[in-house]
Amino acid sequence: MEQKVALVTGAARGIGFATAKLFLEEGWLVAALDRDGDALGPAVDELGQGASALVHDVSSPDQAQAAVAAAIEKFGRIDALVNNAGVADFGPIEETTFDRWRTVMATNLDGVFLMSQAAIPALKKTRGALLNIASISGLRASTLRVAYGTSKAAVIHLTKQQAAELGEYGIRANCVCPGPVRTKLAMAVHTQDIIDAYHDAIPLNRYGSEREIAEVIVFLCSDKASYVTGQVVASDGGFESTGVGLPALRK
Ligand code: NAD
Repeated sequence: MEQKVALVTGAARGIGFATAKLFLEEGWLVAALDRDGDALGPAVDELGQGASALVHDVSSPDQAQAAVAAAIEKFGRIDALVNNAGVADFGPIEETTFDRWRTVMATNLDGVFLMSQAAIPALKKTRGALLNIASISGLRASTLRVAYGTSKAAVIHLTKQQAAELGEYGIRANCVCPGPVRTKLAMAVHTQDIIDAYHDAIPLNRYGSEREIAEVIVFLCSDKASYVTGQVVASDGGFESTGVGLPALRK
Protein backbone atom coordinates (compact mmCIF):
# COMPACT_ATOMS: atom_id res chain seq x y z
CA MET A 1 0.00 0.00 0.00
CA GLU A 2 1.23 3.52 -0.77
CA GLN A 3 2.43 5.49 2.24
CA LYS A 4 0.21 8.35 3.36
CA VAL A 5 1.52 11.91 3.29
CA ALA A 6 0.84 14.66 5.83
CA LEU A 7 1.63 18.31 5.19
CA VAL A 8 2.16 19.93 8.60
CA THR A 9 2.54 23.71 8.85
CA GLY A 10 4.55 25.34 11.63
CA ALA A 11 6.54 22.12 11.94
CA ALA A 12 9.90 23.59 12.97
CA ARG A 13 9.06 23.42 16.66
CA GLY A 14 6.34 23.04 19.29
CA ILE A 15 3.07 21.26 18.51
CA GLY A 16 3.78 21.09 14.77
CA PHE A 17 7.13 19.36 15.32
CA ALA A 18 5.59 16.84 17.73
CA THR A 19 2.83 16.17 15.20
CA ALA A 20 5.30 15.60 12.37
CA LYS A 21 7.24 13.19 14.61
CA LEU A 22 4.13 11.20 15.51
CA PHE A 23 2.98 10.95 11.88
CA LEU A 24 6.38 9.49 11.01
CA GLU A 25 6.13 7.01 13.90
CA GLU A 26 2.74 5.95 12.53
CA GLY A 27 4.26 5.24 9.12
CA TRP A 28 3.29 8.41 7.27
CA LEU A 29 5.59 10.60 5.18
CA VAL A 30 5.71 14.26 6.24
CA ALA A 31 6.07 17.51 4.33
CA ALA A 32 7.20 19.76 7.17
CA LEU A 33 6.50 23.42 6.43
CA ASP A 34 7.70 26.49 8.29
CA ARG A 35 8.62 30.04 7.34
CA ASP A 36 11.60 29.88 9.71
CA GLY A 37 14.11 28.11 7.47
CA ASP A 38 16.92 28.31 10.06
CA ALA A 39 14.86 26.36 12.56
CA LEU A 40 13.24 24.02 10.03
CA GLY A 41 16.52 22.60 8.67
CA PRO A 42 17.72 21.10 11.98
CA ALA A 43 14.15 20.08 12.87
CA VAL A 44 13.79 18.04 9.69
CA ASP A 45 17.25 16.54 10.23
CA GLU A 46 16.03 15.42 13.65
CA LEU A 47 12.81 14.02 12.17
CA GLY A 48 14.95 11.93 9.84
CA GLN A 49 13.93 9.73 6.95
CA GLY A 50 10.46 10.34 5.56
CA ALA A 51 10.41 14.07 6.34
CA SER A 52 11.02 16.83 3.84
CA ALA A 53 11.43 20.57 4.53
CA LEU A 54 9.28 23.23 2.87
CA VAL A 55 10.22 26.82 3.66
CA HIS A 56 7.10 28.86 2.97
CA ASP A 57 4.85 31.45 4.59
CA VAL A 58 1.25 30.25 4.88
CA SER A 59 -0.10 33.81 4.93
CA SER A 60 0.90 34.42 1.30
CA PRO A 61 -1.48 33.16 -1.43
CA ASP A 62 1.40 32.49 -3.83
CA GLN A 63 3.50 30.70 -1.22
CA ALA A 64 0.57 28.56 -0.09
CA GLN A 65 0.09 27.38 -3.68
CA ALA A 66 3.83 26.85 -4.08
CA ALA A 67 4.04 24.87 -0.84
CA VAL A 68 1.31 22.46 -1.87
CA ALA A 69 2.88 22.07 -5.33
CA ALA A 70 6.26 21.35 -3.71
CA ALA A 71 4.76 18.73 -1.39
CA ILE A 72 3.10 16.98 -4.33
CA GLU A 73 6.27 17.15 -6.39
CA LYS A 74 8.18 15.54 -3.53
CA PHE A 75 5.68 12.92 -2.39
CA GLY A 76 3.05 12.69 -5.15
CA ARG A 77 0.03 13.03 -2.87
CA ILE A 78 -1.40 14.67 0.24
CA ASP A 79 -3.62 12.69 2.61
CA ALA A 80 -3.77 15.20 5.45
CA LEU A 81 -3.12 18.90 5.82
CA VAL A 82 -2.50 20.07 9.39
CA ASN A 83 -2.92 23.83 9.60
CA ASN A 84 -0.90 24.36 12.75
CA ALA A 85 1.24 27.46 12.01
CA GLY A 86 0.15 30.23 14.33
CA VAL A 87 1.26 33.41 16.04
CA ALA A 88 0.18 34.87 19.37
CA ASP A 89 -0.07 38.53 20.32
CA PHE A 90 -1.92 39.37 23.52
CA GLY A 91 -2.93 42.97 24.21
CA PRO A 92 -5.82 45.20 25.24
CA ILE A 93 -8.30 46.15 22.51
CA GLU A 94 -7.32 49.80 22.62
CA GLU A 95 -3.65 48.99 22.13
CA THR A 96 -4.19 46.48 19.33
CA THR A 97 -3.24 48.44 16.25
CA PHE A 98 -4.57 47.40 12.88
CA ASP A 99 -1.08 46.16 12.00
CA ARG A 100 -1.01 43.87 15.05
CA TRP A 101 -4.54 42.66 14.25
CA ARG A 102 -3.62 41.96 10.61
CA THR A 103 -0.41 40.14 11.58
CA VAL A 104 -2.38 37.72 13.74
CA MET A 105 -5.17 37.27 11.18
CA ALA A 106 -2.71 36.82 8.30
CA THR A 107 -1.18 33.65 9.73
CA ASN A 108 -3.88 32.27 12.03
CA LEU A 109 -6.89 32.75 9.73
CA ASP A 110 -5.77 33.67 6.21
CA GLY A 111 -3.11 30.97 6.39
CA VAL A 112 -5.65 28.25 7.17
CA PHE A 113 -7.95 29.43 4.38
CA LEU A 114 -5.15 29.70 1.80
CA MET A 115 -3.38 26.42 2.57
CA SER A 116 -6.67 24.50 2.69
CA GLN A 117 -7.86 25.96 -0.60
CA ALA A 118 -4.54 25.14 -2.26
CA ALA A 119 -4.67 21.54 -0.98
CA ILE A 120 -8.28 20.75 -1.96
CA PRO A 121 -7.49 19.27 -5.42
CA ALA A 122 -4.93 16.91 -3.85
CA LEU A 123 -7.23 16.01 -0.95
CA LYS A 124 -10.06 15.23 -3.37
CA LYS A 125 -7.84 12.59 -4.98
CA THR A 126 -7.03 10.88 -1.66
CA ARG A 127 -10.36 11.63 0.09
CA GLY A 128 -8.07 13.16 2.68
CA ALA A 129 -8.38 15.21 5.84
CA LEU A 130 -8.06 18.82 6.89
CA LEU A 131 -7.08 19.42 10.50
CA ASN A 132 -7.06 22.98 11.79
CA ILE A 133 -5.48 24.08 15.06
CA ALA A 134 -7.52 26.66 16.92
CA SER A 135 -7.28 27.17 20.70
CA ILE A 136 -9.29 27.27 23.88
CA SER A 137 -9.02 31.04 23.27
CA GLY A 138 -11.32 30.49 20.28
CA LEU A 139 -13.89 28.62 22.36
CA ARG A 140 -14.47 31.32 24.93
CA ALA A 141 -13.43 34.94 25.23
CA SER A 142 -10.91 36.23 27.73
CA THR A 143 -8.92 39.40 28.25
CA LEU A 144 -6.08 40.47 25.94
CA ARG A 145 -7.06 38.08 23.15
CA VAL A 146 -9.07 40.33 20.86
CA ALA A 147 -7.00 39.39 17.80
CA TYR A 148 -5.76 35.93 18.81
CA GLY A 149 -9.09 34.73 20.21
CA THR A 150 -11.07 36.12 17.31
CA SER A 151 -8.73 34.50 14.79
CA LYS A 152 -9.12 31.13 16.53
CA ALA A 153 -12.93 31.41 16.83
CA ALA A 154 -12.95 32.05 13.09
CA VAL A 155 -10.82 28.95 12.49
CA ILE A 156 -13.41 26.89 14.39
CA HIS A 157 -16.16 28.18 12.11
CA LEU A 158 -14.01 27.84 9.00
CA THR A 159 -13.54 24.16 9.89
CA LYS A 160 -17.32 23.67 9.97
CA GLN A 161 -17.66 25.45 6.61
CA GLN A 162 -15.02 23.15 5.16
CA ALA A 163 -16.74 20.05 6.55
CA ALA A 164 -20.09 21.18 5.15
CA GLU A 165 -18.79 21.88 1.68
CA LEU A 166 -16.10 19.25 1.19
CA GLY A 167 -17.85 16.21 2.65
CA GLU A 168 -19.23 15.29 -0.75
CA TYR A 169 -15.65 14.75 -1.94
CA GLY A 170 -14.91 12.51 1.03
CA ILE A 171 -12.74 15.22 2.59
CA ARG A 172 -13.09 15.45 6.38
CA ALA A 173 -12.36 18.67 8.28
CA ASN A 174 -11.85 18.79 12.03
CA CYS A 175 -10.44 21.23 14.55
CA VAL A 176 -8.28 20.72 17.63
CA CYS A 177 -8.30 23.35 20.36
CA PRO A 178 -5.22 22.95 22.53
CA GLY A 179 -5.09 24.18 26.08
CA PRO A 180 -1.81 25.67 27.32
CA VAL A 181 1.39 23.90 26.23
CA ARG A 182 4.86 25.18 27.17
CA THR A 183 6.00 26.09 23.67
CA LYS A 184 7.91 29.16 22.55
CA LEU A 185 4.61 30.73 21.42
CA ALA A 186 2.92 30.25 24.80
CA MET A 187 5.92 31.15 26.95
CA ALA A 188 6.24 34.48 25.12
CA VAL A 189 2.77 35.52 26.30
CA HIS A 190 2.22 33.54 29.53
CA THR A 191 3.45 35.35 32.64
CA GLN A 192 3.98 33.42 35.90
CA ASP A 193 0.56 34.71 37.04
CA ILE A 194 -1.06 33.29 33.93
CA ILE A 195 0.73 29.96 34.40
CA ASP A 196 -0.47 29.74 38.02
CA ALA A 197 -4.02 30.69 37.05
CA TYR A 198 -4.12 28.00 34.35
CA HIS A 199 -2.95 25.39 36.84
CA ASP A 200 -5.75 26.45 39.19
CA ALA A 201 -8.47 26.53 36.53
CA ILE A 202 -7.63 23.33 34.65
CA PRO A 203 -9.23 20.20 36.17
CA LEU A 204 -6.09 18.16 35.40
CA ASN A 205 -4.06 20.93 37.14
CA ARG A 206 -1.31 21.16 34.57
CA TYR A 207 -0.23 22.27 31.12
CA GLY A 208 -0.46 19.77 28.30
CA SER A 209 2.48 18.43 26.34
CA GLU A 210 3.08 18.80 22.62
CA ARG A 211 2.76 15.02 22.32
CA GLU A 212 -0.67 14.99 23.97
CA ILE A 213 -1.95 17.47 21.39
CA ALA A 214 -0.27 15.59 18.53
CA GLU A 215 -2.00 12.34 19.52
CA VAL A 216 -5.43 13.94 18.98
CA ILE A 217 -4.35 15.56 15.71
CA VAL A 218 -2.97 12.35 14.22
CA PHE A 219 -6.01 10.34 15.35
CA LEU A 220 -8.41 12.78 13.65
CA CYS A 221 -6.35 12.61 10.43
CA SER A 222 -6.28 8.81 10.46
CA ASP A 223 -8.76 6.28 9.14
CA LYS A 224 -9.70 5.54 12.74
CA ALA A 225 -11.69 8.80 12.58
CA SER A 226 -13.17 8.06 9.14
CA TYR A 227 -16.73 9.02 10.18
CA VAL A 228 -15.72 12.15 12.12
CA THR A 229 -15.98 15.52 10.41
CA GLY A 230 -16.93 19.07 11.37
CA GLN A 231 -15.91 18.44 14.97
CA VAL A 232 -14.07 20.63 17.43
CA VAL A 233 -12.05 18.74 20.03
CA ALA A 234 -10.52 20.54 22.99
CA SER A 235 -7.34 18.86 24.20
CA ASP A 236 -7.12 21.05 27.27
CA GLY A 237 -7.14 19.11 30.53
CA GLY A 238 -10.84 19.92 30.96
CA PHE A 239 -10.44 23.71 30.92
CA GLU A 240 -13.22 24.44 28.43
CA SER A 241 -15.77 22.06 29.92
CA THR A 242 -15.55 23.76 33.30
CA GLY A 243 -16.14 27.26 31.96
CA VAL A 244 -14.44 30.22 33.55
CA GLY A 245 -13.86 28.18 36.70
CA LEU A 246 -13.95 29.19 40.33
CA PRO A 247 -10.63 28.13 41.83
CA ALA A 248 -11.93 29.00 45.31
CA LEU A 249 -14.50 26.20 45.04
CA ARG A 250 -11.75 23.68 44.28
CA LYS A 251 -9.72 24.32 47.42
P1 NAD B 1 5.38 27.72 18.21
O1 NAD B 1 5.60 29.19 18.17
O2 NAD B 1 6.25 26.89 19.08
O3 NAD B 1 5.44 27.12 16.73
C1 NAD B 1 4.75 27.74 15.69
C2 NAD B 1 5.53 27.55 14.41
O4 NAD B 1 4.77 28.15 13.33
C3 NAD B 1 6.89 28.25 14.41
O5 NAD B 1 7.91 27.36 14.01
C4 NAD B 1 6.72 29.41 13.41
O6 NAD B 1 7.91 29.74 12.71
C5 NAD B 1 5.66 28.85 12.48
N1 NAD B 1 4.91 29.91 11.78
C6 NAD B 1 4.33 31.00 12.32
N2 NAD B 1 3.77 31.75 11.36
C7 NAD B 1 3.98 31.10 10.18
C8 NAD B 1 3.64 31.38 8.84
N3 NAD B 1 2.96 32.49 8.51
N4 NAD B 1 4.00 30.51 7.87
C9 NAD B 1 4.71 29.39 8.19
N5 NAD B 1 5.08 29.08 9.46
C10 NAD B 1 4.72 29.93 10.44
O7 NAD B 1 3.84 27.54 18.58
P2 NAD B 1 2.97 26.33 19.18
O8 NAD B 1 2.66 26.67 20.57
O9 NAD B 1 3.55 25.03 18.82
O10 NAD B 1 1.61 26.59 18.38
C11 NAD B 1 1.14 25.78 17.32
C12 NAD B 1 -0.34 26.07 17.14
O11 NAD B 1 -1.04 25.74 18.33
C13 NAD B 1 -0.63 27.55 16.87
O12 NAD B 1 -1.67 27.65 15.90
C14 NAD B 1 -1.11 28.05 18.21
O13 NAD B 1 -1.95 29.17 18.09
C15 NAD B 1 -1.83 26.83 18.73
N6 NAD B 1 -2.00 26.81 20.18
C16 NAD B 1 -0.93 26.77 21.02
C17 NAD B 1 -1.14 26.75 22.38
C18 NAD B 1 0.00 26.71 23.37
O14 NAD B 1 -0.23 26.91 24.56
N7 NAD B 1 1.22 26.47 22.94
C19 NAD B 1 -2.44 26.77 22.90
C20 NAD B 1 -3.50 26.82 22.03
C21 NAD B 1 -3.27 26.84 20.66
